Amino acid sequence: MKFPIYFLFLGLLGCTLFGFARAQPAPHSYRIQAVGTNTASEKWCDYLRAQLERRMGNNHAVLNTSAPPSALDILIELDTTLTADYAIQRTGNRLTLQAENEEVMLWMIYQCISWLAEEDSRIAAADLPPALTDMRLSSRGNFRFEYRGIYSPSNMQPEARAILATHNVDDDWGLWGHNLRKALGNQSDESLYAMHDGRRDESQFCFSSETLYHGLESYILDNYGDGVHGAGARSFRFCIMPDDNDRVCQCSACRRAGNTLQSATGAVDRLLRRLAERFPRHLFFTTAYRTTADAPGSPMPANCGVLVSAIDLPLHPLNTQEKTVSQFERKLTEWKRVTSRIYVWDYMRNFDDYLTPFPMLAPSNNASRTSRKTAYRVFSSTAAAMTTLRWMMYRPMFSRPCCSQTA
Ligand SMILES: [Zn+2]
Repeated sequence: MKFPIYFLFLGLLGCTLFGFARAQPAPHSYRIQAVGTNTASEKWCDYLRAQLERRMGNNHAVLNTSAPPSALDILIELDTTLTADYAIQRTGNRLTLQAENEEVMLWMIYQCISWLAEEDSRIAAADLPPALTDMRLSSRGNFRFEYRGIYSPSNMQPEARAILATHNVDDDWGLWGHNLRKALGNQSDESLYAMHDGRRDESQFCFSSETLYHGLESYILDNYGDGVHGAGARSFRFCIMPDDNDRVCQCSACRRAGNTLQSATGAVDRLLRRLAERFPRHLFFTTAYRTTADAPGSPMPANCGVLVSAIDLPLHPLNTQEKTVSQFERKLTEWKRVTSRIYVWDYMRNFDDYLTPFPMLAPSNNASRTSRKTAYRVFSSTAAAMTTLRWMMYRPMFSRPCCSQTA
């Protein structure tokens, strides 16, 4: 039996660059400034400055304005129009760090500190892993996977996730798993439930129900906002899954939406589209599972996607000649026709080798590469009890950015 994990990531482009010996000595001081007057950039300047001052024991090596020629000028810019997740520009003593969003900027700040600490022993950075980017050179790049949510105890810590640029299902998803009933609360309206054999069946939902739609709308607004307005507005992910059985609503509205006796894709897809239009900053997913295994007939909105379970894949290096692998790829191909946002819910270990240190490292890397090669915006998951050491082994596989060196 495979041990369930949680997952995944979405990927992008590139190739990797890694450690170079540096020719220049560490600077004696650092001047940190924002590019332009962007308030968000200034916030991250303050953050980096505070981090360096604390880690250097407030020894006056971090400067605001006047600095000697030997100082390293670090410029910070949060640029939401950036066409990559991040960009590093290095010209002499000037280092410019650009990020497309705040999450990536936070990761870059820690990358920068870790990288500086390799040469400057005054910077205390024992809590940080080695930098994955070389800031001696200019480069730009993207993370291989959009969502990087390995489920492990060490990845439960918000501080660790900020440093490692990973996600956690409890914080990034407003609705997850077969939890629609929890979101809707106590509802007595029978129109919520599936019509089956002429009767309402409370074991399953009618996804054309107005009560269900408005219940979800209220749940999202009350708990997560619309993603646009209010302090700290941010995007959340919501997974709309039928309950875990094969019942499919046969009411006239659901059948008009495309439901069949075996497939609820029609009504679920229509609900996703309605929610995606109502909340354009949030992301809405369904699952390629049981009654929603089939992809819809037309492309989904950009803020919709699908979770695809990899439970049928063998836990050894993938061979595309194997039937289960080709079937999995066929499923991905079908969904790729309608969405570019495919998250794979993967598994990385068995109960029978639960205590083996790295039982699934090679197959996981193989699967990760396969997914990138096929250009799916996918991927992966991991075990429930992964230790910090194991997680650190997996981290470069998933979190190392793909970047192109430009200088
Ligand atoms: Zn229905």
